Amino acid sequence: MDQEFFLLGLVALGGGLVLALIGFAYLLLRLREAQQRLRDKEGQHQGILDRLQENEYRLRTIIESEPECVKLQAADGTVLEINPAGLRLVDAERPEDIVGRKIYSVVAQEYKEIYRENMRRVFEGEAVVYEFKSITLKGRTAWMETHAVPLRDARGAVYALLGITRDITEHKWAEEQGRRHQTELARVARLSTMGEMATGLAHELNQPLSAIANFARGCIRRLRNGDVTPADLIEPLEEVCEQAERAGEIMRHVRDFVRKSEPRMTAVDINQVVRSVAKFTELEARQHEAVVTLQLAPEQPRVWADSIMVEQVISNLVRNAMEAMDEARSPRREVVIRSVQQDNDVVEVEVIDTGPGIDGALIDQVFDQFFTTKPEGVGMGLSISRSIVESHGGSIRAESRAGGGATFRFTLQRIPTLLRRDERRYSLHH
Ligand code: ADP
Repeated sequence: MDQEFFLLGLVALGGGLVLALIGFAYLLLRLREAQQRLRDKEGQHQGILDRLQENEYRLRTIIESEPECVKLQAADGTVLEINPAGLRLVDAERPEDIVGRKIYSVVAQEYKEIYRENMRRVFEGEAVVYEFKSITLKGRTAWMETHAVPLRDARGAVYALLGITRDITEHKWAEEQGRRHQTELARVARLSTMGEMATGLAHELNQPLSAIANFARGCIRRLRNGDVTPADLIEPLEEVCEQAERAGEIMRHVRDFVRKSEPRMTAVDINQVVRSVAKFTELEARQHEAVVTLQLAPEQPRVWADSIMVEQVISNLVRNAMEAMDEARSPRREVVIRSVQQDNDVVEVEVIDTGPGIDGALIDQVFDQFFTTKPEGVGMGLSISRSIVESHGGSIRAESRAGGGATFRFTLQRIPTLLRRDERRYSLHH
């Protein structure tokens, strides 16, 4: 019995051992598998690491060889990284000259605040482009333009500014030269306009001054003859005053012009302006044996204009008409000044004469500066008139009618359009 038990025990032990061996072998197998998997994983990780390193290397090579300055900055302006082009841009000899230091050390004093503000915007998540003046590490002044974007970590928080900066000094210089050139051009243009104004002024002043001389001479003559009462002198002396005031008004305009002041724009009744021109050219008309008639639009159109300037245009046209008729010894000397409301937006003023008209080949030249066919002419009247009309947003043209005579026509803008466009301004002056 004991022997049986012993044998049974042996068998059980043997079985247990076999089982244990099988279990051990199984565990060993699993362990090997796990090790293999671990090795595979490690291999994969290594592969990823290698690829990452490769990518970083590639990126670095690109950035290093990039001709523009590429840099990373922290929120306080510390330069974290910068490529060789960046080092050259700030005149740094080694990376340590600028890396780890604040970018503000190369930003011109007057641009530091602007720079800080732009950095703040980038760290708030905006992509910005800004220009600034830089004083490099060697004290050289340069203009820079930076395109900056925020760099975010995995959680989306901005941890650095990535900036690409280029030197725009040459571009700025060219721009500055361009601006200087423009200013110079404007100055020359202004000088020539002043020259224009001065010649125009002589032309303009001639009329009231000769009227004053005529009236004064008339008074003297009557005083010498003794056939005059003080009351008789009042009217001609009033004329003298009126013409002197007109001369003064012209001078005021020149002063305003020289001071670069704007034209005095108001709502002007164009018929009123035409009547006033007719009145102060009366004397001249008599001297030229011409009759001036008015054909005025019944609506009394209002235009947005400087009345004195418009007066100047109309009187120039009327004077030219009379001179042309005089020169051609036209038997019939008539000047018609018309105001016509063309449509809702435009008012046209026409000055029609019965003179010789204008040669078709010259019709476009008459508005040129210094174009004149008169022995004593200066050729500025029409050119000034055109400047005035155009500065009012209108246009002027000449026509020569079959059967003689010339017609000059210019347009001005009626108030309703402007009222819609600029109600406030209109009501201020009205
Ligand atoms: P200016 O008064 O010195 O001649 P303008 O600019 O006023 O200068 O006129 C230029 C030229 O245009 C005149 O010399 C003349 O030949 C021509 N012209 C102007 N108005 C008339 C007109 N109504 N009839 C014929 N020719 C004219």
